[in-house]
Amino acid sequence: MSVQDEMISLFKKELELCKLKPNETVAVLTSGEIRADYAKAFLAAASQIGANAFELKLPQAARGNEGSFGITPLTDNRVAVECLKKADLVIDLVLLLFSKEQLELQEAGVRILMVVEPFDVIQRMFPKESDKKRVLFATDLLKNAKELRVTNQAGTDVTYQLGQYPILTEYGFADEPGRWDHLPSCFAAATSNDGGVEGVVVMDKGDILFPFNRYLQEQVTFTIKDGFVTNIDGGFEAMLIKDYMESFNDSRAYAISHIGWGLNERAQWHSLAFDDQVFGMDGRAFYGNVLFSLGPNSELGGSNDTPCHLDLPMKNCSLYLDGRLIVKDGDVVIEEMKPIDSQLTR
Ligand code: FE
Repeated sequence: MSVQDEMISLFKKELELCKLKPNETVAVLTSGEIRADYAKAFLAAASQIGANAFELKLPQAARGNEGSFGITPLTDNRVAVECLKKADLVIDLVLLLFSKEQLELQEAGVRILMVVEPFDVIQRMFPKESDKKRVLFATDLLKNAKELRVTNQAGTDVTYQLGQYPILTEYGFADEPGRWDHLPSCFAAATSNDGGVEGVVVMDKGDILFPFNRYLQEQVTFTIKDGFVTNIDGGFEAMLIKDYMESFNDSRAYAISHIGWGLNERAQWHSLAFDDQVFGMDGRAFYGNVLFSLGPNSELGGSNDTPCHLDLPMKNCSLYLDGRLIVKDGDVVIEEMKPIDSQLTR
């Protein structure tokens, strides 16, 4: 099978997971020639299912700060937004994440699937139907919790107050009206009540820094008060993080963003060592990680829409919800969230 044929058959499986019906319409959103092979394959896969499909190609976004979120090729392009609202499923190949246009499409009931990872990563981390149940289990745990605490051997001890905002649920397919998801993913995350994070996060050597796409060579310590980072200590990498954050000239960049744990057992921590030109779902969805992050909470209904967003996956952490152990030293201890083939039969 050629790579293009493999792509069509895998994307057809994905569209089936997204419950695409023959009477529906798929819009594939592209910009320039980036991921032109994905666009072609999604259009072919949609046709095989019998659905209508079209590609909407936009000029590149006006450039924001390097790696910043929220400014997309759809920004201020009203006709394009209205056009996409009429589709049932939008395949986002341009990264609409954290944009108000994405929220507008979701509110109109459009399902949105973001696809930006290299094909070998998508193949390896490709979702299973059963992932949904495991991620929804995590979602319910977070929904019912009032307090989340994370610790690690390096000295992390941080507490989040929860309950004000909805939960971010990513299982890798957009199968319900208004649902946004990301191929591949597999994790759930919460964001704290306004101002409700206190403590210290010590990222350890080997933990991951996005969007820098690199592993930490030394520890970095974040001191957190009232939901904001008040101090960043460490060596060279702490300096680099501070410098990057300062470049946004936005005090809201220092807010604490989403927190949760990964459930994709097909994700590989070491993958960045071989290809750093990735979005980084391996680190973000890694089974048993804790995904700490800084910046916006607008995706979860908050008012902070700063374009400065750092995702900081940490290994070997322990995570508690209202005192109950959920992740122990980087391993998920709740049966219902373990990989389906390693769950005890009940
Ligand atoms: Fe994030």
